Order: sequence, then C-alpha cells, then structure tokens
Amino acid sequence: MCPPFPLSNTAGLDSTVVELTDFICAAQMARAEDAHLPLEEKPRLNHAYKKRKLLEYELLKKKKLMRLGNKTIDEDDEAVHLPNPMVGFGIPSEPCLKTHRNLPEAALGPPYFYYENVALTPKGVWSTISRFLYDVQPEFVDSKYFCAAARKRGYVHNLPIENRFPLIPLPPHTIHEAFPLIRKWWPSWDTRTKLNCVLTSIASAKSTERIRKALEDYDSEPPLRVQKYVLDECRKWNLVWVGRNKVAPLEPDEVEMLLGFPKNHTRGISRTDRYKSLGNSFQIDTVAYHLSVLKDMFPNGINLLSLFSGIGGAEIALHRLGIRLKNVVSVEISAVNRNVVRSWWEQTNQRGNLYDLDDVQQLNGDRLEHYMTSFGGFDLVVGGSPCNNLTGSNRLHRDGLEGKESSLFYHYYRILDLVRSIKT
Ligand code: SAH
Repeated sequence: MCPPFPLSNTAGLDSTVVELTDFICAAQMARAEDAHLPLEEKPRLNHAYKKRKLLEYELLKKKKLMRLGNKTIDEDDEAVHLPNPMVGFGIPSEPCLKTHRNLPEAALGPPYFYYENVALTPKGVWSTISRFLYDVQPEFVDSKYFCAAARKRGYVHNLPIENRFPLIPLPPHTIHEAFPLIRKWWPSWDTRTKLNCVLTSIASAKSTERIRKALEDYDSEPPLRVQKYVLDECRKWNLVWVGRNKVAPLEPDEVEMLLGFPKNHTRGISRTDRYKSLGNSFQIDTVAYHLSVLKDMFPNGINLLSLFSGIGGAEIALHRLGIRLKNVVSVEISAVNRNVVRSWWEQTNQRGNLYDLDDVQQLNGDRLEHYMTSFGGFDLVVGGSPCNNLTGSNRLHRDGLEGKESSLFYHYYRILDLVRSIKT
C-alpha cells in the first residue's frame, strides 16, 4: 500500500507539493484496490471509490489552504482535544448528556461502524483517523466509569446515541469491590480506588521483591519517600496487595473479570499470551454500552464484520447484550486468538456461522462480495487496529499512525469503504 496521506507533515513543506503527493497517493490507492476486484465489479465500485477519494482530496485541500496570514495553520488547530471527564456521550450513571448528534451525511449507516483505538496518541493521529472515517468525531471514554480499571479509548462510530443501556449486572466499580479478599492487606496510605489501564505485560518478580525489601524495615507506616516509591511502582504496574508488604501483578483471570470477559476465557494459552491478548482487548461493558442501541434495531440479529478481532471483545459484547450473531466474519492474524474466539463460539452454542480469516491485508473486494451476497451484507463493521506505534509506553517505535502496525488502521478504512460500496 502506498504511504497514507501525510497530513501531519505540513511544517516547512509547500502545501501544493503536499496536495499533489496526496492526490497521487489517493489515485494509487484507488488503483491498487482495483487490481483486487473482479472485472465485472470494477465500474460500480470504481465510481464510488473515486468519488470518495476525490472528496477526501477536497477536504484535505480545504484544510491545507486554511491560512492565518502567511503562516500555515498550526497543527494544534487540527488536534482533537480530549474531554475531561472522559465520558463520551454519557455513561450508565450519567446517561445521555447529549441525545443527538449531527453526523456528516457520508457517515450515515447502515452499515454501522465502530472503530476503537487508544485515546492518547501522538499529535494528528485522531484527526487523521476521523478524517478517513467520514469526518466523524471520536467519542472518548475512560472505562474507569464502567469498571474498576481505567482504559482511555477513542471510538469513532456512526451508531445512534440515544437509549443506550448497560450490561447487567454492573461490574464492580472499585478495587475493593472487585477484590474483596485482598482488602485486609491494603495499607491505608495506598489510596487508589481504581486500577490503571491493564497493559500487555506485567511487573517482574524482581520489582515486587524490591518493594517488599523497601517496606520490611518499617513496622508501621513507611516514610513518605518510601511510600512514594512504592505507590509509583504500584500505579505503573497495576500491583495489588496480596500479603504483608507483598504486592503482586493481577492474575490473568482477574484481568478477564475487570475487562468483562467470561471467566477462563483465555485459559489454556500461555500466560504471556493471555496478558498480551487481554491487554489489547476491549473493555466489554464500555463497548456493550455503545452497541446496546443495536438491540432494538436488529431484533433478529446481525451480520458482523469483525476486523482485528483479538479475543472477540465485540462478539462477546453483542452476545451479552442478547443480540443474535447471525454471521460473523472475524479477521485476526493470531492463531492463538482465533482459537480463543472459536472455542468461545462453541461453548456458547451459537446458532449462527463464524468464518475466521487471518489477515486484513488479504481481505479484498472479491472475498467481501462473496460473503455479502451469501448472507445479505454486513450490519456492523467493528475494529480496533493495533496501537503499538501510538502508545506512550512504546518509546522505541512510537512513530504514529504510519508506524508498521498502527498503519493497519488504513485497512480498517479500506475494508469499511468497500463494504459501504458493495451493493447486495
Ligand atoms: N478488539 C480486540 C483486540 C484488538 S488488538 C479485542 O477485543 O480483543 C489488535 C489485534 O489486531 C491483535 O489481536 C492483533 O493480533 C491483530 N492483528 C495485527 N495485525 C493483523 C492483521 N494484519 N490482520 C488481522 N489482525 C491483525
């Protein structure tokens, strides 16, 4: 695939050069796409695709040509600002701060789409994501309003936002509610009530041992300096108190519970894989709240295209909402994850069909059309592409949306655009 539009590259470059590059790039993308299509498909799709590319080009041009005197507009003007509190269009305890929003016409469903990624990204990432996804603004939500762990994410979707409802039972909202047994070991000077975002790896035994050593010299409260060191480590690694002076990382089944997955959902795969897959996954209660509006709209169930499915966060959210999964095409590169989803599918006695594919890069118009004609199109396209190059914790490869893995986002957009243009 050609490099995506270099929107964040404006500094120092003449805007006409940037525009030209963008235009060539758009044309190349359209052509590359054409190569994947069967002959008879080309005229119809071609038209929709080119129209879309042209629209994008126009938008880009408009943005680039915005000037303040002679100065190109500062990138900050394109930055998407994170709301505080990060509650999106409402949370179960404070539903519907807003009941209606005006979506751009090009974004209207069906099909509905729902795209997720980390909220805190390098500059320009969310505005690019949003621009590609029909100019829909992200809904930023921190899952700490849904469960006992924080998880700041942005969701770009075209779902209605009125009459959302939460999954019942509501999950525990504080650390102590979630883990009542460890309460007795929790020192009063550790005032955390929520855990931090669950990550893909855990603290080493060495670092928890260091904490134990730092504390064992004191019979009662340690001095503030030691408290600060311990608390910083606990926050960084999400450690909990499991004995006197003894902290430990969360167990994989505890992470499953915090994220709303069924108990033992990832059991059977290696511990490292469990942490990795769970660390990358959706928080089910949060996502289900957003998807809940589909229940009345699709009383007979839905056809789902799930891209970057991981361990099936979207599938589980829909299932727990009682939305029947008629046909699910799930695309996930990790065989370990695909097996987790397949075994969940079997255990929950689904009556629909699960088709699993491995690589989004190989999902072309031909294949999509085959599925779409066989069961009549997709109602929902869900995805959360890898965030490896976007997160603050990845200092080595934090190269933004154009990074090796994060640029897979463009496949979400490419596939969604195909789905929207293939008529069934
Ligand atoms: N939302 C998912 C997880 C998304 S994390 C959940 O709830 O579990 C991103 C996922 O994309 C990872 O599982 C990763 O294995 C997968 N992935 C990475 N490259 C891919 C590719 N080329 N095709 C399909 N999936 C890919």
